[in-house]
Amino acid sequence: MLRKYPLCNYCLGRQFARLAPGMSNRERGTSIKNALLLEAHQEATLGSEEASEKISILASNGGLQEAAMLAERLGLERTGRKPCHICGDSLGEEAFTAMAQKIGDQLREYEYSSFLLGGSVPITLREKEDAFRSEFSITTGEDIKNDVTREIGKILQRVTGADVDYTSPHITIVVNLFGMTFDIKPNPIFVKGRYLKHSRNIPQSVWHCRECWGRGCPRCNNTGREYPTSVSELVGVPAKEFAEAMDFKFHAAGREDVDALVEGTGRPFVLELKHPRKRRLALDRLERLINERAAGLVEVHGLEFTTRREVRNLKAFSPRTSKTYVAETEFDSEISADKLSELEQMFTNVVVEQRTPTRVMARRGDRLRHKTLYELKAELQAPDKVVFTIRAQGGLYVKELIDGDNGRTKPNVAELLGAKPLRMSLSVVAVETS
Ligand SMILES: [Zn+2]
Ligand SMILES: [Zn+2]
Repeated sequence: MLRKYPLCNYCLGRQFARLAPGMSNRERGTSIKNALLLEAHQEATLGSEEASEKISILASNGGLQEAAMLAERLGLERTGRKPCHICGDSLGEEAFTAMAQKIGDQLREYEYSSFLLGGSVPITLREKEDAFRSEFSITTGEDIKNDVTREIGKILQRVTGADVDYTSPHITIVVNLFGMTFDIKPNPIFVKGRYLKHSRNIPQSVWHCRECWGRGCPRCNNTGREYPTSVSELVGVPAKEFAEAMDFKFHAAGREDVDALVEGTGRPFVLELKHPRKRRLALDRLERLINERAAGLVEVHGLEFTTRREVRNLKAFSPRTSKTYVAETEFDSEISADKLSELEQMFTNVVVEQRTPTRVMARRGDRLRHKTLYELKAELQAPDKVVFTIRAQGGLYVKELIDGDNGRTKPNVAELLGAKPLRMSLSVVAVETS
């Protein structure tokens, strides 16, 4: 190999990376060159011409001072030092240290205690090494990326005091040593909690104007929205500022109607804060901040750090979530107490068939759902006013359960009572995820 191509110690050692574990590639390369030099010197003292040539070759390779010294002492012809055939002498303690220091400097902007370093290598360089390996039938090598990430990682740990974490690092760094560039990506923080909604007409997420889809038009006063704010923003914006994050995403276990309240224990959510500078967040202070700013509209409690897995759980369990609603309903005629107790009996553990409600059909498309209604309690407030407490499987459209949506929901309250609801106000009082 060395007769044909000059190689630095890293690139020579890397061809034998699977041998003698525990050694660095630089140590492997240095050891091989040292062994060759010792052998060649002994042969040279016995007058071997070939041995002198070997010493000259070793001397023209980088990384072995002793070979150059010996060549000079023996008065051998010297061709001068040639750059490494594979890496062009890009690998080296100095380059690694310089890179680690540059990364460490930039990392000062962030709060973190663990990182994971990845490497990117130019294709041309990879091709060069592949060709080299097939030329010499090398089967004990490893990827050049490993040399870069291992060596820089070691120095970076020393410089920053942070640990390497392979499963959930705070920061992911991708370094391109050959272009002397790198990319820092702080991984998102996940905070879970529950929210209450104390005011009607707040959608869970930003609701764009039906007319202009967010561009702004006369209908929406150029706001681009149907509603001025959302639960997502009331929770996410203060948190984003608090963590000095670039963006956020609000994940919740299902959603309530825009005009429904959320009371009682509240609805579970997970807030994902993307690209945060701060991650040692005082969650009790964040909770106060959100609740002060959203006073009267939205309230959060029980904030806790969590992981991405919790987001998947939220989504996965959402169809199995049971929710309790309170619906105050005014009918067009008087309702008898007998009818209501009949209704309570009938509406215990029944499967409700629902076609997509007319009011959301434009957005959702028509399909048939089957949702379980676990329990319905009805309390007469006035001759024509009933308070329904309804516990049902997540995803059941409660408004339609009561008014029937022109027979698109079966069975329904209006049909059974033989009365038409005129006004209804809906609140979610509990969301159970277990
Ligand atoms: Zn090299
Ligand atoms: Zn508009």
